[in-house]
Amino acid sequence: MIPFLDLKRLNAAYRDRLLDRWEEWMNSGQYILGEFTASFEAQWARYTGAAQAVGTANGSDAIYLLLEACKIRGHLKEGDKVLVPANTYIGSILPVLRAGLEPVPVEPDAETLNVPAEHYMQAAEKHAPRAVLAVHLYGRLAVDETLRDWAPTAGLCLLEDAAQAHGAVDPDGRKAGNLADAAAWSFYPTKNLGALGDAGAITTNDEEMAALVRQLRNYGQKQKYRSDYAGINARLDPVQAIVLELKLTDLDRLNRRRIEIAEKYAAGIRHPLVRIPIPQFDGSHVYHQFVVLSPRRDELQTYLQSRGIGTLIHYPVPPHRQGALKSLWKHYHLPLTERIHREILSLPVDPMLQNGEVERIIDLINKFDK
Ligand SMILES: *Cc1c(COP(=O)(O)O)cnc(C)c1O
Repeated sequence: MIPFLDLKRLNAAYRDRLLDRWEEWMNSGQYILGEFTASFEAQWARYTGAAQAVGTANGSDAIYLLLEACKIRGHLKEGDKVLVPANTYIGSILPVLRAGLEPVPVEPDAETLNVPAEHYMQAAEKHAPRAVLAVHLYGRLAVDETLRDWAPTAGLCLLEDAAQAHGAVDPDGRKAGNLADAAAWSFYPTKNLGALGDAGAITTNDEEMAALVRQLRNYGQKQKYRSDYAGINARLDPVQAIVLELKLTDLDRLNRRRIEIAEKYAAGIRHPLVRIPIPQFDGSHVYHQFVVLSPRRDELQTYLQSRGIGTLIHYPVPPHRQGALKSLWKHYHLPLTERIHREILSLPVDPMLQNGEVERIIDLINKFDK
């Protein structure tokens, strides 16, 4: 059996150090925010290269709070349009609705599955949006210089949904989380940097933005019992901050292993019914997921399952077909997104996989239907 992702095995390595730090935390009596949360925030800012990191309860709240901060600053107002990838995880889109904004879907590129700058530019002419939420889907960076240069000239806030791209770095050495006006992170347990529960953060070089999110995540309070804004409770728990600070020391190593596994897949998989999106092994894609596309995806998944290989589908139902968006997005024609959702399959890219296991998966795929 090769499971899709063995989180227990991955996290077991931290057990003893974690219990030590948790004991220290218990003895500190700081159960909400406090020095352990602040310490991870400082490390995460340093790691991403952004001036500020603010911990949040999860990734959805991080996106929502960035949008709310943009509203407070007058960059966005209720009902404004926000461009989002049509094929992203619905977790990118729901916070846009929660913030009272209108998400507008943009079709990706068939070879990278990310939305290129040109597609956003075309959509902007048609829809007059006020923001772009670029998503580094599956770990591949989706913000380049073209997008970064264009967004301010078009009067758009450019935000990153970096929930799948911890540690990804562009050819100029700029990291995910430091590529736009601000970025939202999720540390959901399966992400490249994962907590042992829910956790999230924002990163930004904009001090005012960071200060606003810091306030909004804590009832809109800067001073205790004085709510300047209608904030929420979306604080990063110190229990999870401790996990994240510890696991951060291994993130680069585990990302390198993910890329190594991706290289093996890309070199080894040879099958007329299995297509691999353009590979990128320079660190600008951290392979949160290694996806392939097949017109016979369901059969391929069943075949691998029957031979003990766990795979998953990210994602089985496109956002515009889901109850949450069906009526808002019923007029959009999104054929590429539909095809991607029919054909996509995620292979195991667990950094703890052994080379022999990767080779076995490649071998089985190459023998599919033969
Ligand atoms: C995980 C994820 C989210 C949501 O994060 P949560 O912590 O689960 O709220 C948002 N966008 C993307 C692309 C994600 O992968």
